[in-house]
Amino acid sequence: MVSERNPCSNHVCVIGAGPSGLVAARELRKEGHTPIVLEQNYDIGGQWLYEPRVENEHPLGKNDTLKVHSSMYASLRLTSPREIMGFSDFPFLIKKGRDMRRFPGHKELLLYLRDFVEWFKLRDMIRFNTKVEYVGMLDFVKFGKEKWIVRSKDMRDEKSIEEVFDAVIVATGHYSQPRLPNIKGMDSWRRKQMHSHIYRIPDPFRNEVVVVVGNSLSGTDISMELVGVAKEIHLSAKSLEITEGLSKVLSKHKKHLLLHPQVESLREDGRVLFVDGSWVMADSIIYCTGYVPYNLMHLYSYSFPFLDTKGMVVIDDDRVGPLFEHTFPPSLAPSLSFVGIPRKIIGFPFFESQAKWIAQVLSGKRTLPSWEDMMESIKVFYKSRDIEGIPKHNTHDICSFEYCEKYGDYCDFPHLEEWRKELCLAALKNSFANLETYRDSWNDDELVQEAHHSPHFTQLGPEAFDM
Ligand SMILES: Cc1cc2nc3c(=O)[nH]c(=O)nc-3n(C[C@H](O)[C@H](O)[C@H](O)COP(=O)(O)OP(=O)(O)OC[C@H]3O[C@@H](n4cnc5c(N)ncnc54)[C@H](O)[C@@H]3O)c2cc1C
Repeated sequence: MVSERNPCSNHVCVIGAGPSGLVAARELRKEGHTPIVLEQNYDIGGQWLYEPRVENEHPLGKNDTLKVHSSMYASLRLTSPREIMGFSDFPFLIKKGRDMRRFPGHKELLLYLRDFVEWFKLRDMIRFNTKVEYVGMLDFVKFGKEKWIVRSKDMRDEKSIEEVFDAVIVATGHYSQPRLPNIKGMDSWRRKQMHSHIYRIPDPFRNEVVVVVGNSLSGTDISMELVGVAKEIHLSAKSLEITEGLSKVLSKHKKHLLLHPQVESLREDGRVLFVDGSWVMADSIIYCTGYVPYNLMHLYSYSFPFLDTKGMVVIDDDRVGPLFEHTFPPSLAPSLSFVGIPRKIIGFPFFESQAKWIAQVLSGKRTLPSWEDMMESIKVFYKSRDIEGIPKHNTHDICSFEYCEKYGDYCDFPHLEEWRKELCLAALKNSFANLETYRDSWNDDELVQEAHHSPHFTQLGPEAFDM
């Protein structure tokens, strides 16, 4: 019997089995497509697949290609409460015998993703240890429609193969490649310096004088973890206007943890000079300066070294473009799309709405605006950001629940629940005021109860707890 292929079904290559790639695979299959996920690592999880072995990575990430994807350190706990993290139809449940905290460690999120894979039976779609090396368009004239050639390498035997797909979804993440500051003397500083990408545990810094550059999430987390291990920690911040939470931490640990302005230069004798003229003799420097991908070979930020679009998608000062709604490049839509580019959003439900929209556009259930309209919309968006004074490198920083909801309307994705938004804001507020304790003490229990009794948390029934 000859089985006829559903004409609306596409053979789709999803690159990456992190949260974005997994939910993309799930949505594609739900919509009748045949996805294959290519993942360079040995398991699912993306950033959440903790990698303790970092010895082969350049301490400042100066390899041509990174050897380690995950930037998670051993003690890392979620910055957002678990209730808000789950995909819309798969709550992040508290499970007996596991890490039951509201802000659990990174392993619990990996276990959540494994539960997700098991619940939706996704594992057979994923090809592990498979690194995508090249993605390019095939001859349009020959096939009558866009087709993509994907070359991937099996990391175990180094053998490469080429396959043809109807569509490609790029879900490769963007928190791996260290972004480094440009500090005079950095190249000739002989003592220990590393980016937080390869920081794992505090022990190697025992009794040392450590300069931590950057006071955002990793910078403050790592500084607090070093208190009691390192002799002194000198936290260098871009601005001395710090949150109430950080100032409480500084006064509590004032003998060991000190705040400084930006680093001005490094001296060969080990001195670290700050812009206010003060200095310390340091044993180590840890750069907690962010994870915007920075490809040393190409000198641009978000980077997709495998992707050949003949200039139809370019990366300029951290702006991937042109992308309609951060997802579809108008000239290659819908056969090429991206999931997971936006930042400063509640990640998982947003990635899910992107995946759903892409899957529905590919099946023909939804249509995209014309090329002209998509380009015009992108132009208007860029202009509005310019007027607001938002720099180009923050193009993909969303910071807006309204945007996420408007985005979801493209595919009737449910709007964020009120409790989800409120819990997100409450956690942020608490972290600003109580940096050291916000993961263990809060005053939004009523909202948590509301979340637990909402359909989001009860939809799977009791069997989900027993998985
Ligand atoms: C230190 C740290 C703390 C964080 N804390 C939080 C938090 O508390 N809450 C939160 O919501 N988010 C947090 N994040 C953000 C986190 O990255 C996202 O939650 C999420 O992992 C993004 O998912 P993704 O699938 O888009 O990317 P990733 O998780 O990065 O997954 C991308 C996948 O693509 C694979 N890949 C890359 N290139 C290739 C290739 N060429 N071929 C094949 N496979 C490839 C990678 O191996 C990886 O598995 C944190 C990130 C970091 C670094």
